[in-house]
Amino acid sequence: MIGALPLAAIPPEDEALRPEIRAFLRETVADIPPERRARSWMGFDPEFSRGLAARGWLGLTFPREYGGAGRGPFARYVLVEELLAAGAPVSAHWIADRQSGPLIQRFGTEAQRRFYLPRICRAEAFFCIGMSEPNTGSDLASVATRAVRDGDGWRLNGAKIWTTNAQHSHYMIALVRTSGTAADRHGGLSQILVDLHAPGVRIGPIRDLAGDAHFSEVVFEDVLLPADALIGEEGSGWAQVNAELAFERSGPERVLSSAVLLDEWARWLRKASEAGNASEAAEALLGRLLAHLAVLRAMSVAVTGRLVAGESPVVEAALVKDLGTEFEQLIPVVVADILARPGPTPPGPLMRTLAYTAAMAPSFSLRGGTREILRGMIARGMGLR
Ligand SMILES: Cc1cc2nc3c(=O)[nH]c(=O)nc-3n(C[C@H](O)[C@H](O)[C@H](O)COP(=O)(O)OP(=O)(O)OC[C@H]3O[C@@H](n4cnc5c(N)ncnc54)[C@H](O)[C@@H]3O)c2cc1C
Repeated sequence: MIGALPLAAIPPEDEALRPEIRAFLRETVADIPPERRARSWMGFDPEFSRGLAARGWLGLTFPREYGGAGRGPFARYVLVEELLAAGAPVSAHWIADRQSGPLIQRFGTEAQRRFYLPRICRAEAFFCIGMSEPNTGSDLASVATRAVRDGDGWRLNGAKIWTTNAQHSHYMIALVRTSGTAADRHGGLSQILVDLHAPGVRIGPIRDLAGDAHFSEVVFEDVLLPADALIGEEGSGWAQVNAELAFERSGPERVLSSAVLLDEWARWLRKASEAGNASEAAEALLGRLLAHLAVLRAMSVAVTGRLVAGESPVVEAALVKDLGTEFEQLIPVVVADILARPGPTPPGPLMRTLAYTAAMAPSFSLRGGTREILRGMIARGMGLR
């Protein structure tokens, strides 16, 4: 596979976005305590999302006729990189902007595009993803939630779990069975858009290891949906979901989940150095981590280059996510180890940022597909399976 991922560079017109974004973040995010900024793409703040929308930074890649900015994936890359590096609370609009909007753009009807995309760009429609179920996670083809024809529309029954932001969102795009049985695997699956305020939808938030309740279990009991709830072709849900997962696996979010911790630690090392307490061992470790980050970023940019070229780099995206999440999980381990050594007492905000990041780190390699599943895809890409 060597040579399969030619390096790419971000075009100057997209790099040119950076100073304006940084100025906005200095005003809106810099004063938020680091332990809150560490939540980043799990940090829910509709007001912040509306601020981005007012600057035209939501739906950056959507066509202008649907309220977007008509920019390419590299412009969005620059925006997302800056937002995550600063620890901006992007979670409210995150899934709609990254995943649901592009899915509707690609597979939706013209009426669906005209209805949903402008609302996403104005931060008025927040989405969540209903793939996992109480008995279905990695083996997504065995989903049992079922939508059956009911008059002109659909009747939905079943349950989804670990649904990020379901309790705050307006809509879910759910992978459901519209024909056959779980034994039919990929056949008979469709994607359906659920208004989460419809009668029969019950949402129960679930608390995670860090104490936050950012995901939920969602139960559907005889939920009646209109005919136009179907996204794309009936029975094409499997192919559509796989296209959607490619949007999800290779962006800066797979490299920068521990960025706020890394930054706070670097700030503390700088202060210690200025006070004459420099630690060569700690500085060498920071340098090693930054070298890893530079390589991972180059890979992530390269995958974006292939998306720009209209390719579908599924295996390469899996590589970035696998290596990226390993790096993100290493950072709290390294920082905890160094801070446990004898030396000056680290500041409270750094310790609280470490505590949060360490508690969340196990989830980095679960969300969006587990490490084992990604490695299976990589092995297949190498012709080993
Ligand atoms: C923070 C967070 C947010 C999430 N948000 C969402 C969301 O918004 N929407 C959504 O639909 N889901 C969401 N998920 C769920 C996530 O996608 C699943 O947890 C994940 O796909 C794994 O499924 P599972 O939990 O059922 O584990 P299982 O599939 O039961 O896996 C258990 C273990 O077995 C391993 N395993 C399973 N199958 C194989 C295999 N074939 N070969 C080797 N090993 C295997 C897995 O790697 C894992 O280690 C979220 C999860 C987290 C942690």
